[in-house]
Amino acid sequence: VGECAVECPACPHPGRNLPEGWENADKKDRYKYALFLAMDANFRLKSKERGIRDSPLGDGWSYFVQSRPFKEHVSNYVHQPEMNMCESKHRAVDHANIRGNDKLAANGVGGVNCSRHALNRKIGFGDLQRGEKYCNMDYFVLSTLHDVKVTTLYLSYDIACQWFVNLSSRIEEYPLRLQVNPNLVVIVAVPKLHLVGHGPKCQMKYSLNYIPGSARTCGESIEQIWSGQNAVSMSTREMSPGCRQDTLDDHLGAWNFRKVVGLGQ
Ligand SMILES: [Zn+2]
Ligand SMILES: [Zn+2]
Repeated sequence: VGECAVECPACPHPGRNLPEGWENADKKDRYKYALFLAMDANFRLKSKERGIRDSPLGDGWSYFVQSRPFKEHVSNYVHQPEMNMCESKHRAVDHANIRGNDKLAANGVGGVNCSRHALNRKIGFGDLQRGEKYCNMDYFVLSTLHDVKVTTLYLSYDIACQWFVNLSSRIEEYPLRLQVNPNLVVIVAVPKLHLVGHGPKCQMKYSLNYIPGSARTCGESIEQIWSGQNAVSMSTREMSPGCRQDTLDDHLGAWNFRKVVGLGQ
């Protein structure tokens, strides 16, 4: 799965662009071989319910997760509890609890990209049936991390302060294809623009300004790709589900291709 995706050439890929012995680097140097990812949901990329059932032609081949196993997963975790310990008044907290709408087959799209270079991650995108449910967002990020071999991950998410708290216990219940390298050290942060809306407790704990090795990463890269995707939000919401997924996949790939061609210019 995901083999047709254009991958980020600047992110660490063991065996391809890392020096031998990278895994033995001192703890203070681990940031050099770390993967930086950002995740978020977009509620403009909706899909109208028109009663049409078609399959995507390239299901799970590139950026969107394979639809059938994903839908099965989501139906198993509808009643998963979601904690909110944050003092934030941020919209995502409310979005997480949005009710489904009968007129919509999908209420939005969630996804993951690399936060140093803003390229979309293979099998890191999918639909949100209602709000920004943890079981959906978990599925996207864990799918794209499944075969990652680096051992340090900096992950930013605008509700990381709540989402991350029980992530490890949620993972225990998930199937094998959502398990990640057990040696992976995950450092979570709230992206810089969103962090302003969180209370002082989160600002101390989840600021990239205070996390060693995070350089000047802002963690908002996923917002940049939404700006490109939003251009097709009006046309794709009218499409049949399979056609819509293929079209969104195509645009996510075009973004990556243009990034690769433009890197270093
Ligand atoms: Zn990258
Ligand atoms: Zn918070």
